[in-house]
Amino acid sequence: NRQILLASRPQGEPSSQNFILREQQLPTAAELAEGQVLIRNHFLSLDPYMRGRMNDGKSYAAPQPLGEVMLGGTAGEVVASRNANFTVGDKVVGMGGWQEYFLVDATQRGVLQKVDTTHIPLSAYLGAVGMPGVTAWYGLVKIINPKAGETVVVSAASGAVGSVVGQLAKARGARAVGLAGGADKCRYVVEELGFDACIDYKQHPDLRSLSAALKAACPDGIDGHFENVGGMILDAVMLRANAFSRVAMCGMISGYNGEPIPLAAPQLILSNRMKVEGFIVSEHMDVWPEALKELGGLVASGKLKFRESVAQGIAAAPEAFLGLLKGRNFGKQLVKLV
Ligand code: NDP
Repeated sequence: NRQILLASRPQGEPSSQNFILREQQLPTAAELAEGQVLIRNHFLSLDPYMRGRMNDGKSYAAPQPLGEVMLGGTAGEVVASRNANFTVGDKVVGMGGWQEYFLVDATQRGVLQKVDTTHIPLSAYLGAVGMPGVTAWYGLVKIINPKAGETVVVSAASGAVGSVVGQLAKARGARAVGLAGGADKCRYVVEELGFDACIDYKQHPDLRSLSAALKAACPDGIDGHFENVGGMILDAVMLRANAFSRVAMCGMISGYNGEPIPLAAPQLILSNRMKVEGFIVSEHMDVWPEALKELGGLVASGKLKFRESVAQGIAAAPEAFLGLLKGRNFGKQLVKLV
């Protein structure tokens, strides 16, 4: 069982030096303890929150211990079981970590989730029909709650979360405008995902230019904003925000390496009577069934589209993760392990 461990904590930008690969001996099926399940991980999910866990400081997520397998969501297949609830061949998702196999005591409810891959591909349970999808759903439905005809903006629009935000907004009759890095991502957001417009923020290096681009893309102003990035994008959105607009504060990836992310004009929150609300999706387990039902239905029927960047093999995980923090992924970043 090849595993990636956290070897050291990064100062600023992480590097491949912060990770180390180790090989671990697995028990045989006969050696499993009562309640244990052995899973062959097929996909590992790489997510921006993992950057925060690499730090020792105070964060909403507990720090990842040094010298232990990197934490992460996985989807795979049961290959041995001494648990009545799981049989060999079951497809499951769980927090299997950056490794090829996941040995877990599954007696506690919720540790492993069985999933149905008849109409939904296994990997989607780590993306549009998993944590990123529910994140999009929560911020859009519970915080922004767009009415038909309103305009919703989302940053990192081609990504795992952002792509779902815009499509859900469209399904509710809103106008969806994305921001993404590069012409390819923007073309995909409009042509494949069906957003009304997408702004390549890299073409607008200053606030005045980005704000003008937003004005052109959002002629009626902005009623809802789903923030994944922070910094100048948020400043530009706030300049175009309508009275009583709502901002779902989901992520601030532009500051995950410790960069300062000042807010240029906080007084706009007051003058525009804006609602700005941060949230952590794992603290809202009550909405997951409702959200997953809608997301699963939309993916199964082909109405909700998504794209994946797939790295091959566990040894490729660190580089793929570093790429995610630099926008080199295009859609949900995964590592394929078989
Ligand atoms: P994505 O698939 O969107 O990948 C991250 C994207 O962020 C990159 O592709 C890139 O897109 C953009 N990006 C990366 N670095 C920067 C930077 N320095 N400046 C600007 N943009 C950058 O990831 P996810 O969909 O998984 O996550 C999106 C956001 O949602 C993250 O901020 C994440 O932390 C947050 N999140 C929050 C949760 C919560 O509970 N609050 C739960 C899950 C995710 P581009 O090339 O377009 O710039």
